[in-house]
Amino acid sequence: MEIIHVSAECFPVAKAGGLGDVVGALPKYQNELGHVAKVVMPMYRTKFLFQNEWELVHEGSQNSGPHYFNYSVIREKTNKLGFELYLVDINGLLDREKIYGYDDDTRRFIAFQIAVCDWMSKWSYQPDVVHCHDHHTGLIPFMFQYCYSFKNLANIPTVFTIHNAQYQGQFDWGQQHLLPAYDTYKWGMLDWDKLINPLASAIKCSSKVTTVSKSYLNELRYEANGVQNLIQYEQGKSIGILNGIDADVWDPSKDSMIAKNYDDHLVKEGKRKNKKELCGMFGLDVEKPLITFIGRLVGEKAADILPDAIRSSIYHHHGAANFLILGSGESDVENRLEEVKHQFSGYVNTHIGYNETLSHLMYAGADFLLMPSRVEPCGLNQMYALRYGTVPMVRSTGGLKDTVRDFGEWQGYGIRFNHATVSDITYSVGRAIDLYQNKKDLYTWMRSYMMHIDHSWDASAAEYIKVYESITR
Ligand code: ADP
Repeated sequence: MEIIHVSAECFPVAKAGGLGDVVGALPKYQNELGHVAKVVMPMYRTKFLFQNEWELVHEGSQNSGPHYFNYSVIREKTNKLGFELYLVDINGLLDREKIYGYDDDTRRFIAFQIAVCDWMSKWSYQPDVVHCHDHHTGLIPFMFQYCYSFKNLANIPTVFTIHNAQYQGQFDWGQQHLLPAYDTYKWGMLDWDKLINPLASAIKCSSKVTTVSKSYLNELRYEANGVQNLIQYEQGKSIGILNGIDADVWDPSKDSMIAKNYDDHLVKEGKRKNKKELCGMFGLDVEKPLITFIGRLVGEKAADILPDAIRSSIYHHHGAANFLILGSGESDVENRLEEVKHQFSGYVNTHIGYNETLSHLMYAGADFLLMPSRVEPCGLNQMYALRYGTVPMVRSTGGLKDTVRDFGEWQGYGIRFNHATVSDITYSVGRAIDLYQNKKDLYTWMRSYMMHIDHSWDASAAEYIKVYESITR
């Protein structure tokens, strides 16, 4: 089967979050299963672009509303990621340093999708499936079916994966001229709540919809940032498939970004060395349990309550645990975290920003990883934590619920709580401190047990293949 993944992110080319990790790994595992999976994404100005060799495979031109643009498609020459990688270059629109966050993002990603459709419409054959990821590629199923220029693509089955339904890419109807000419009787396939909504359009137009965990699909039927009725309506073609982790990239026995490699036999010594390195860097006490947070500092991750939750935990538990935060996001949260850091120097430290290397050292050196998320479609951090023998402390939601069992249950290996509140976090920090200080045998068993849990892509990659098979001729 030939599968074309279209995405705005793909690790290590460009990553802002879990989407990048998934698109960087899933195609590789699908190829290992004997299929041909390829990735098509925008060409940003990233290190990866300049450090690798490329060949030109196509040049074309198109219009997006009044804007005429030339585009080119380049291919990485050696398939070093384990799959064929194609970058779409549109001068001035895509070749920028950041992936998102520009005022003209709507125009950028519409142009990208038009270029992808135009290029594919010129192929001498058709792939078996086109798999689109999140709203940046959500208009492709519509374009295949209803845009006059791409009519020859109308029979290609499409899968759309919702990695995060909070972001839908809506724009007003005043900008519909940016789209290629389409059958206007079908305007309803673009519309949701009087806006053009790429996420909703993809749910309507694709052959199958997947979410990145089963629990998340369930939750979306009740709360999906306004599209819950649509999810309910389309549930017959929807399925939840848990993300996996790239076991080659996230392997503490080989990870070159950590201070000391270890496996489940050497977990105690290995983690200790990494913790020492980390505590040395951030002026924290290596003898105290180290609780970390890694992620975007946004409401979805409940980062807004972190400053108060840390303060409350330090007061209630008399400074028995240390905290280290890595992340960036809302400036108010960043500022309040900096305040807590200054207030509790020696107990709390932060690194505001994005730092892949530091994140690896934190998974390896931390004792606990806190994820109080309000919404967590799948969550990869807790799976990385498990692989590195770091106890996840998670709110029972979405993928966190599907992957972490509380240590109070039979063969449990994590800490779970129900509410994204200061009191639930403070209470859970108390349980973590107790586990670390007073239940040493259990803690030791948990760490080596969790490192064996298989969250690799093998099973999930095969599940996606079944989904494709159900819609291909
Ligand atoms: P989301 O995609 O919602 O941000 P996920 O849990 O699916 O959350 O994936 C988050 C990924 O991004 C993980 O690989 C995590 O380690 C990484 N990450 C998030 N923030 C940072 C940061 N500030 N520095 C380094 N890595 C980060």
